[in-house]
Amino acid sequence: MIRSVVIVGGGTAGWMTASYLKAAFADRVDVTLVESAQVKRIGVGEATFSTLRHFFDYLGLDEADWLPKCAGGYKLGIRFENWSRQGEHFYHPFERLRTVQGFSLADWWLALGDRSKPFDRSCFITSALCEAKRAPRLMDGSLFVAGLDGDLAKSTLDEQRAQFPYAYHFDADEVARYLAGYATRLGAKHVVDDVKEVGQDSRGWISHVRTGSHGDIAGELFIDCTGFRGLLINKTLGAKFRSFQDVLPNNRAVALRVPREEATDMAPYTTATAMSAGWRWTIPLFRRNGNGYVYSDEFITPEEAEQELRAAVAPGKDELEANHIHMRIGRNEESWVRNCVAIGLSSAFVEPLESTGIFFIQHAIEQLVKHFPDQRWDPRQVGAYNARVAHAVDGVKEFLVLHYKAAQREDTPYWKEAKLRAMPEGLRERMAIAETRLLDEETVYPRYHGFESYSWNTMNLGLGHLPRTPQPALEHIDAGLARAEFARLRAEATEMVATLPSCYEYLASVND
Ligand SMILES: Cc1cc2nc3c(=O)[nH]c(=O)nc-3n(C[C@H](O)[C@H](O)[C@H](O)COP(=O)(O)OP(=O)(O)OC[C@H]3O[C@@H](n4cnc5c(N)ncnc54)[C@H](O)[C@@H]3O)c2cc1C
Repeated sequence: MIRSVVIVGGGTAGWMTASYLKAAFADRVDVTLVESAQVKRIGVGEATFSTLRHFFDYLGLDEADWLPKCAGGYKLGIRFENWSRQGEHFYHPFERLRTVQGFSLADWWLALGDRSKPFDRSCFITSALCEAKRAPRLMDGSLFVAGLDGDLAKSTLDEQRAQFPYAYHFDADEVARYLAGYATRLGAKHVVDDVKEVGQDSRGWISHVRTGSHGDIAGELFIDCTGFRGLLINKTLGAKFRSFQDVLPNNRAVALRVPREEATDMAPYTTATAMSAGWRWTIPLFRRNGNGYVYSDEFITPEEAEQELRAAVAPGKDELEANHIHMRIGRNEESWVRNCVAIGLSSAFVEPLESTGIFFIQHAIEQLVKHFPDQRWDPRQVGAYNARVAHAVDGVKEFLVLHYKAAQREDTPYWKEAKLRAMPEGLRERMAIAETRLLDEETVYPRYHGFESYSWNTMNLGLGHLPRTPQPALEHIDAGLARAEFARLRAEATEMVATLPSCYEYLASVND
């Protein structure tokens, strides 16, 4: 039996892991987390993915308690601005497409050919809620989607059947603090110190970490949550890192925390706006916006990127401090090596588009619990873990490359080059299929990676990569039911916009 776990790193990854292990194993497994007071957390990672409710519910935490304490907000989807044409936008919402007579509403939208309203606003309710900046909850706390209220208990991503209509925005530092309180209450030990050396036994397995002033900390299983440095997994155990830079060239970001002019003007979505050499995020927290420009330094210098970002989101606010970040894009060939598992940025990162960093952490922790080792350290368990983690990351990589390939913009050297760049072989095939028909579960990246076919189709249609013709069968099927469904959807959206409070109004009520 493995009874002692040492986590190095106290960012989002470290504290999510400590909290989850304590929630799963209680006192049967000792957890010690060592974090440096000198090495700062990355300080970004504020938009999440709609699966995150499983994580907090697993911990038994109430959204009405933790969300306000983490300066949080709601995220119903992502608004993409200017990716194909200046001034255009569309939403990638957390909403599956409805079907009529076996064909999705997106198929019907193509067949009916009424382009007066864009695809996303015709086929999803959530787009209307985003436009009107509505909360996903009524003032009494109930959700706008019937049947999804209530505690998910100790369920995991494997058990997710329903589409949750929202994710969260939150302050990354506050979340780490909140989870630190949770994990230590459940018995996790917290050591604030620098790991100076990593000790190995004669087989090369990690035996202990040597700290500056707390001596050696021994353990059986070590979790590397040291961020991009990969102190244990890469620097000590020499795990090979597979870069994705050939297909995803953005390698830097500059972030700014900007107080919102109008506190009440709070959007329930992340915005991803195309820029001259990349894109920028806007993440509305309760009292401020998180902003950042993700770019490739082959096309723009850090100073130019900072200037372009400041001009867009904080003109005249030179006192705000910019956080310049190098990004390591790719994944370890193996994230579990010997008795060390890397979780968080030390394991993999594919750039912030679609907000998957924290999703990867959640997925990895769940897989770690499912494949938790005993003294035999069964290589098949380790292999299965590594395969699942790799599949999730590789699937997201393909999905992100699609964003750049499907985007119609070609007005700067960066966007021109995006069209010529290499692409993963599987994606080439999928893009070819998408020229003839919408993708389905058989034709998107086949292993679990969090995104479903509706997401792939939303991005293709939103960005202007449409099938050449609608499905021929739809010429022979009466469109009456489809037209009725479009009308029903419009009516439901109008009613919800009229009934739901604004995002700010609802959050202000739980922040009281
Ligand atoms: C530009 C950018 C934007 C992002 N945006 C998003 C987003 O919107 N959504 C999302 O889901 N994800 C996002 N991510 C990813 C997200 O930030 C990370 O997944 C998340 O913050 C986890 O980081 P971490 O805990 O792995 O690393 P870090 O936050 O870097 O933490 C590393 C920890 O290790 C400790 N440490 C390091 N060395 C030592 C040592 N020698 N001894 C002791 N302790 C040590 C540090 O003190 C720190 O506590 C983004 C990432 C980047 C780069």
